[in-house]
Amino acid sequence: MKPATHETIFALASGAGRAAVAVLRISGPESGALLAALCGGVPPPRRASLRRLTGPDGVALDRALVLWLPGPGSYTGEDGAELHLHGGRAVIEAVADALAMLGARPAEPGEFTRRAFLNGRMDLTEAEGVADLIDAETEAQRRQALRQTEGALTGTLRGWADRLRLLLAEQEALIDFPDEDLPPETEDRVRAEIDALAAEMAARLADGRRGERLREGLVFVVSGAPNVGKSSLVNALAAREVAIVSPIPGTTRDALEARVALGGVPVTLVDTAGLREAGDAIEAEGVRRALARAEAADLVIEVTVAGEAPVAEQREGEGRILVANKTDLGGAVPAGALGVSAATGEGMEALREALAARAAALTQAEGPAPLTRTRHRAALTEAEERLRAARIAEWPELRAEDLRLSLRALGRITGHVGVEEILDTLFARFCIGK
Ligand code: GDP
Repeated sequence: MKPATHETIFALASGAGRAAVAVLRISGPESGALLAALCGGVPPPRRASLRRLTGPDGVALDRALVLWLPGPGSYTGEDGAELHLHGGRAVIEAVADALAMLGARPAEPGEFTRRAFLNGRMDLTEAEGVADLIDAETEAQRRQALRQTEGALTGTLRGWADRLRLLLAEQEALIDFPDEDLPPETEDRVRAEIDALAAEMAARLADGRRGERLREGLVFVVSGAPNVGKSSLVNALAAREVAIVSPIPGTTRDALEARVALGGVPVTLVDTAGLREAGDAIEAEGVRRALARAEAADLVIEVTVAGEAPVAEQREGEGRILVANKTDLGGAVPAGALGVSAATGEGMEALREALAARAAALTQAEGPAPLTRTRHRAALTEAEERLRAARIAEWPELRAEDLRLSLRALGRITGHVGVEEILDTLFARFCIGK
């Protein structure tokens, strides 16, 4: 898909269904003419004006707040407009019909943001940030996505690309020098800068995947012997979060997983008791997938019964937390374990806090903006590898080529190089109207 930008597009930007207000967005070269046709004139730029809208056949459509948003300082970079209509189905349809009659066409999903990208209003990581902001379920996800829309990653990547471009220029100058005239300090400086850049990239790659983890959500697995109360614990943890629990719809895994927000992070709790007991009742494929998730768990919640001897290998560690359940029965809580009772709720708040702290530690840290997608990581890894190759390249020409390839890899992250397929998949996932 590569929609032509000479077309003027429109879409409902607000949610579908009856509402107080519906926002219809318009973008493209005919936006001004469309506004003039609908409201009898183009209102002053970037100011809300109340106008009566009339269709091309002279029929009154609505009284609406109208915004004229001339390019290039608009979201898409093109001339655009917003119509804040009364949010009824018939109103929206009548105005959309009028726009279509006047020559505009309905937008594809993500087409507004795609145009913003194509017009250089944002780079690809910022556009991905917009997608993540719309999908954000929790507070920490929202913060991370917002930061990315504001160019947090862009800034870093642009800084690296600028430095690489300088390096490349110096390296190319070195190629042009005959050997005897080589200024020795230039060669040293180039090597030192390559090392510095590679080290910065390596540091960013060694971030424990926290950005990706936050974007995708964490997986905590509840394990332990039968009947220690694993399912009861999952239910207790999930029940307190009814308002934000979003059950994963339409799969047999419903019974095995609960999605909760802990420390501002979406966490899927996988109940391994459910896995085993499910037996033939659920499809093998569902079990297989849930087991695979369990293997890739970010944290294992190891459950025992208070007073019963824990299994030898159980130790609290980085990827593990020990819980002694059924404290209401009076058993002792072993050292290093959190005593709880899923039945009475005792200790559950402390458990919730401990899990929230782990979730936050796995996904958030002070410091520069994290990578948030596998494709960022793959491209940055390549950029770093190319730098290391450049460092040991025997010929100046080969080193220049490595530097060029490193720069290209960075360009793929921001969308300045060979990204047509990424564009299609990214923007197709957007809502229409964004
Ligand atoms: P699972 O097999 O580990 O998932 O264990 P279940 O959650 O199915 O619980 C096993 C049994 O222990 C059930 O009869 C629960 O009602 C009971 N149970 C779970 N948590 C507690 C608790 O905190 N105190 C008491 N007294 N019983 C519990």
